[in-house]
This record gives sequence, C-alpha cells and structure tokens, in this order.
Amino acid sequence: DAKVVLITGCSSGIGLSLAVRLASDPKKAFKVYATMRNLAKKERLLESVKGLHKDTLDILQMDVTSQQSILDAKGRVVEKRVDILVCNAGVGLMGPLEVQSLDSMRKILEVNLLGTIQTIQAFLPDMKAQGEGRILVTGSTGGLHGLPFNEVYCASKFAIEGACESLAVLLHHFNIHVSLIECGPVNTDFMVNLQKAELGDTCLQKVDNHTLKLYEKYLRHCGSIFQNSAQDTEDIVKVFQDAIQSPSPAFRYFTSGVMPPLTKLKITEPDGSQYISTMSKIIFSAEEQ
Ligand code: NAD
Repeated sequence: DAKVVLITGCSSGIGLSLAVRLASDPKKAFKVYATMRNLAKKERLLESVKGLHKDTLDILQMDVTSQQSILDAKGRVVEKRVDILVCNAGVGLMGPLEVQSLDSMRKILEVNLLGTIQTIQAFLPDMKAQGEGRILVTGSTGGLHGLPFNEVYCASKFAIEGACESLAVLLHHFNIHVSLIECGPVNTDFMVNLQKAELGDTCLQKVDNHTLKLYEKYLRHCGSIFQNSAQDTEDIVKVFQDAIQSPSPAFRYFTSGVMPPLTKLKITEPDGSQYISTMSKIIFSAEEQ
C-alpha cells in the first residue's frame, strides 16, 4: 500500500519540490496530499508535475493558521489516514526588532509555531491509534542559533525545536517518529515571501544610525550567503527522503550533512560568548577581512 503523505506549504519552495518528488516515485510508493493556503497558486505545482501523477498527487487547500481549514483538508484525505505528516509552511520576518509591529510578530508565531503545532494536533490522535507514523518538520539553523535582525523568526524556530523534542520523547512510545530537517539557506521564494524592512522604508527612519549601518551590513552578508552557499530544494528533498526511508529515523537531520560549525560552537562553548563574538565577526566585519 502506498504511504499517505500530507505536506503543508506546497505552493513553492521545499514543499513543492518534496511533493513533486514523492508523487513521481517510480514505484508509486506514496500518495501525496500537497496542501497550500491559497489554491490560486497551484499552477506552479501543476506545471512541475506536467499533468502526470494524477493518481499519486492531490492538491488541497489548507491554511495552517486556521483549525477549520486543517480539519477540512484532513476530511478530504480519501484513505482516512496520514502516514507521513510534513509540517513545512513557514514565513520570515527581518529587520531591526524595534520596528516590528505586534501584528507582524504575531503572524510569524502564528504560522511558524502555532501553525505547526496545530497541524500536528489534528493528525496526532489518529497516528497514535494507528500505532505508527512519521512527523517531519522543516527546521532551520535559525532555530539552533540566533541571527541578528531575525529575532522573532529565530524565536519561532527555536520554539519548534522545543515543541518537537518534547513530543518526540512521548511519541517514542507510540512508534511515531518525529524528525527535524534542519536547513541552512535554500534557494526558494523564502526571501521574496518574507516580511523585510527595506533600507529607505519610512519605518526605519526612527532607528538609530548605528543599527542601520549594521543592518545594511547584515543584508549584504545575507545576500552573499544566499548567492554563494544556498542549497537547492533538490538537496533538501534528498534529506527528507533519507528520513522517510530510514526504519529508525534520527530526530535531527542537517541538510549540509554535518552540524554547522556555529551550532557546534554553542555546544562546545556553552556560556555563549564565543558564539556571539564569532557570529558578530562573520556578519559585521566583512569589509575588514
Ligand atoms: P517558500 O516561501 O517558498 O515556502 C513557504 C511556503 O509556506 C509558501 O508556499 C507559503 O505560501 C506557505 N505558507 C505561508 N503561510 C502559510 C499558511 N498560513 N498556511 C499554509 N501555508 C503557508 O520558502 P521555503 O524556503 O520553501 O520555506 C519552507 C520552510 O523552510 C519554512 O518553514 C522555512 O522557515 C524553512 N526554511 C527555509 C530556509 C530558506 O533559506 N529558504 C532556510 C531554513 C528553513
């Protein structure tokens, strides 16, 4: 029997690539429910599957911030079970903390944190009853170490780590495996979709010059990181596949293959000062190098 997979956030990026890859499995090992908040954006996914895989792919509307929408999507799963749940939907928020509105901060937490938890909640009782299941979550190195000008995004991704790790301990007793796929920069629409304060925006007028100078450096750093070392969604999909295929998947997968050196620094130097000075140097002293 094909494994039933439900993925959130499939209109672009990692979710889209994963849906396409699993739905095109030559052995038809998966029935994929690719969900997205806005069905008007399904063309890209449809184009990527080129009309093929009608029997292995279904597209459903699902907004992870709406419990009703999650339950409606769940109700449309013909097989009446989900074997593999992929919580992937997420958004970014970038800029000096003092310009972020309560509303935009709430939105990030609602999608990234509560959206993920709420999705898991909806499928968990059935998985427990089935006595097996997989929950995969798109994590971020921003959930493992802090990044300046990404405070609220990192807070949401750190929170996901706590929620998933806590859940994994319990679900160990239910034959349900939770895995975080920890991504560094990936070439997707993420940087387009994120809410970002642009230099010159009126909201930045109130911000002190020192912060603005550092923000400018950060944006340049970020641009060059994405240009030079971002992974493609295909690389990320391979890691998801490893986790899915493993009979006993790990809790954490690093898409680069190894724990990033900066994350390691947090463990080897637990007082945090090494991390802070190293990260600060990497981001803010580019010109001096
Ligand atoms: P993306 O912007 O292409 O994809 C994110 C998807 O989530 C979009 O399709 C968007 O429509 C969807 N989404 C947003 N709000 C939603 C909601 N309320 N309900 C349902 N779907 C919603 O970017 P991506 O890089 O593919 O992002 C996927 C995941 O990867 C995110 O959780 C992101 O935080 C994480 N991530 C991305 C990067 C990166 O550099 N691209 C790095 C680390 C982690």
